[in-house]
Amino acid sequence: MSKQKILIIEDERTLQEVLTYNLEREGFEVSLAADGQDGLRKARSFEPDLILLDLMLPVIDGLEVCRQLRADAKTQGIRVLMLTARSEEVDEIVGFNMGADDYVTKPFKVKPLIHRIKALLRRAGSDQQSRDIVSIHGIEVDRVNHTAKVSGQPVDLTPTEFRLLWSLGRAAGRPFGRNELMDHCRGEDANALERTIDVHIRSLRQKLGSLGDVIETVRGVGYRFRGETESPGSGNSGSPDESD
Ligand code: CA
Repeated sequence: MSKQKILIIEDERTLQEVLTYNLEREGFEVSLAADGQDGLRKARSFEPDLILLDLMLPVIDGLEVCRQLRADAKTQGIRVLMLTARSEEVDEIVGFNMGADDYVTKPFKVKPLIHRIKALLRRAGSDQQSRDIVSIHGIEVDRVNHTAKVSGQPVDLTPTEFRLLWSLGRAAGRPFGRNELMDHCRGEDANALERTIDVHIRSLRQKLGSLGDVIETVRGVGYRFRGETESPGSGNSGSPDESD
């Protein structure tokens, strides 16, 4: 089996080295670009499975690189994980308009980043439509049309609830800490309390009605969308009003 390929587009020398070292150690074939223009060129020639894309880049910035990747038939299917230090941009990125599949805010830890990379790559086999629509356990979330349906019926979600449902649902089975969910929802707001997530989750579960228990409480961690492999009837894995 050939190695999966990752293109790192990052201008910080130290990060280039840390990322290259760790990704190669994980068995990936790694290529490096230090600015946006070179990054776009290598995205076409190296044909990576995934791109780690820094937001603040010389020549062409990360958002523009992302737009151009999505506009080109040759590169539009490549997974993009954005690296950003600018929390104010995060809203825009996770607003799903820029085409990034996921993002990590700097400074980040290598191990969780590698987990995110692997999770993205696992989903990379699916087609374009399934990249934009999560459909599981009777719940459908469409990030392009920004709509959510429960058992075929549209539900009216707040932007935060929508992002929570999308983030949890597309990675069904994986537990998310409250901090990480907060990050997904609103960027790094140091003043926001973790409990806020609980409030949004409670409201989201209510709106999902009888399917509310697909969002499980993971004690000591946070929440998780029930995985596809677990049968819904097995054990008592989270009820809508389970306390934490
Ligand atoms: Ca940079």
